Amino acid sequence: MLESVTILGTGTIIPVAGRKCAGYLLNNSGSLILLDCGPGVLCQLADLGIDYSKLNTIMVTHFHSDHISDLFSVIISLTIRIGTALDLTVIGPSGLASILLEAKRFLYPNQSDYRPDLLVIREVGPGTFPLQDLHIHSERTMHTAESLCYRIEDTAGRVLFYSGDTDYEDQVVRLGTRADISILECSHSDRFPDQSGHMTWSKAKRFYDDTRPHQLVLTHFYEDFLAEGIHTKPVRGRSIAFANDKDVFWFTPPPNA
Ligand SMILES: [Zn+2]
Ligand SMILES: [Zn+2]
Repeated sequence: MLESVTILGTGTIIPVAGRKCAGYLLNNSGSLILLDCGPGVLCQLADLGIDYSKLNTIMVTHFHSDHISDLFSVIISLTIRIGTALDLTVIGPSGLASILLEAKRFLYPNQSDYRPDLLVIREVGPGTFPLQDLHIHSERTMHTAESLCYRIEDTAGRVLFYSGDTDYEDQVVRLGTRADISILECSHSDRFPDQSGHMTWSKAKRFYDDTRPHQLVLTHFYEDFLAEGIHTKPVRGRSIAFANDKDVFWFTPPPNA
């Protein structure tokens, strides 16, 4: 059963003090599922006292470095620490396996510790697939050719939605409708010159009104968004939180539980 989600990183590839890159740790009855694995996430787990070797599954949304670069560090750290008994499933868009396997040639050509061949790698596209006792629904976003967003449902009807990187798109709205916790990127302010391929504050409010989550959690803030100070002001009439690194959000029992 979905219990909580811990926000590991609310920043982007442009560094901002106190905000690591994308990473969200889902607790499913004690089983740990990591959504995206950007730079700083592995260290953030250590800061929180969470043993990275207990990760059961890592799901990535797309291949930009602010979402996957710590994945290589997780793989080599695990192999150094626990050897070939590595037990980790990595899920992501088509192309994931070749990225992880071919990285050895560039990153660790002469070392035996980088062992992506020991992982269970599952490439997925838009659709539905099971994970543990959960149902995962995925849908394309137009951010990159491969990028996906995920809707994660447990057997009690609890729902987490995670947008990855996206623009305001109909299929993303459909997938995010009425989630208990909806984690939405909100990269830029409305004044940012190029708003394509990412959400802005206005788009995030529209997303809230159209999907009606129990709790909308905004994240993935670029400097221009933070400079406007939108995240420092209270939001009236909508259940919208501006996440900080290390925040924890808890699932409440669904109405029919
Ligand atoms: Zn991206
Ligand atoms: Zn990003």
